[in-house]
Amino acid sequence: MTYTHKTITELRHSSPAQAEFYQAVEEVLDSLGPVLESNVIYQRQAIIQRIVEPERQLMFRVPWLDDNGNIQVNKGYRVEFNSALGPYKGGLRFHPSVNASIIKFLGFEQIFKNALTGLPIGGGKGGANFDPKGRSDNEIMRFCQSFMSELYRHIGPTTDVPAGDIGVGAREIGYLFGQYKRLTGRYEGVLTGKSLLWGGSLVRKEATGYGAVYFADYMLNARDDSLKDKRCLVSGAGNVAIYAMEKLYQIGATPISCSDSAGTIYHSQGIDLALVKQIKEQQRGSLIEYLEVHPGAEYTPVADYPTDGHAVWRYAADAAFPCATQNELTKADAESLMAKGCQLVSEGANMPSTQDAVDVFIDAQIAYGPGKAANAGGVATSQLEMAQNASMQKWTFSQVDQQLQQIMKSVFVTASETADEFGQHGNLILGANIAGFRRVADAMIEQGVV
Ligand code: NDP
Repeated sequence: MTYTHKTITELRHSSPAQAEFYQAVEEVLDSLGPVLESNVIYQRQAIIQRIVEPERQLMFRVPWLDDNGNIQVNKGYRVEFNSALGPYKGGLRFHPSVNASIIKFLGFEQIFKNALTGLPIGGGKGGANFDPKGRSDNEIMRFCQSFMSELYRHIGPTTDVPAGDIGVGAREIGYLFGQYKRLTGRYEGVLTGKSLLWGGSLVRKEATGYGAVYFADYMLNARDDSLKDKRCLVSGAGNVAIYAMEKLYQIGATPISCSDSAGTIYHSQGIDLALVKQIKEQQRGSLIEYLEVHPGAEYTPVADYPTDGHAVWRYAADAAFPCATQNELTKADAESLMAKGCQLVSEGANMPSTQDAVDVFIDAQIAYGPGKAANAGGVATSQLEMAQNASMQKWTFSQVDQQLQQIMKSVFVTASETADEFGQHGNLILGANIAGFRRVADAMIEQGVV
């Protein structure tokens, strides 16, 4: 039985019904064979058995009153996965699909992503199965206050520092911070992604999307190419997708699609980004409204997606940026992208490509940036926000942006050189997994059996 198979079998028993979590573990362990074989200490120290088990998992009731005076109850989570490299760090996701499996897959990915940045941050993730869609501002505030009324006892600027993720942006971080401050009486850097008015960092909002584009450009530069003049498919229309599109335009590429949970827009002449920002950031509306201004664009509702994948990946393009959610790019999507000439995939989202889609990219030897490397710019800039909070400083946009670029470059070089070291030139998923794993595993060994 292989190491991966044995571990997954044990996890199925100890943590039943967590498909996304097994998928994330399998993807990492599949890469680790060579490093485990050449370093028996990792086996002697039971690093794999320890690393797949979170240090702590919290689940809690989140009761709140809706605008009609009805009591609503959601389930809250915080998984404090690994603190070998620093305080737990990772976002909060508010989405109806959230469950223990989703939070654990995200937390597990976060350990290696954070390690890859080279910064002193451990891995964690949290959230709730709360659906913010259609909820009033007051309902969002009451939900956030109830969520924080339990979470506050478990977090702190040197223990666990949550941030945003799907469904959690500056508005929610504001309400969460307000309640933390009220309960503890402390004004401190316990959350990142804060408003620029009171402790947030410039570039944090843009960081994940910008970072995924910087990473893509570094991948192409290594192949004597660049993103300039490339036509790019983007999925999602949230924080990551919007700022990936913004950076694509800034460096001379053209985003030609975006999507939300209801459908996909394809606009051959280039996505009208100001309009998407207006619909999504200001109106919190649906992308179908894009057609009111651009009736010539194509809109495909989810009901018309191909049965084996997603409409957005069936168009021809030079590059693809999945920036919505997990498993949004299937094997059939990957094959269609390859058949139509796509040369690059840079994952803004976490685990957006299914395992067999990743295999298609690796076999085709395209430039493939896995999420834990390509979207590390968000958490890296969160750490820069923590550094500014701790030193009571505020850095300029270009100071933070330059550091973001350096970190993305270093993540690329680390993943790339590690792939070379193991004879797998260009296989950045292998390089990212091994490089992230080694840093965490070596720290765990030095800190003893804890
Ligand atoms: P947002 O909530 O801002 O946007 C998410 C977007 O994806 C929305 O357009 C949403 O559609 C769409 N979406 C969400 N879930 C689904 C689904 N099940 N099916 C189809 N579409 C969906 O989230 P972010 O942009 O912050 O996050 C996007 C991805 O990036 C996630 O995988 C997240 O984990 C990852 N990520 C985010 C970071 C960050 O800094 N924010 C950092 C690193 C990774 P709709 O508008 O209809 O809701």
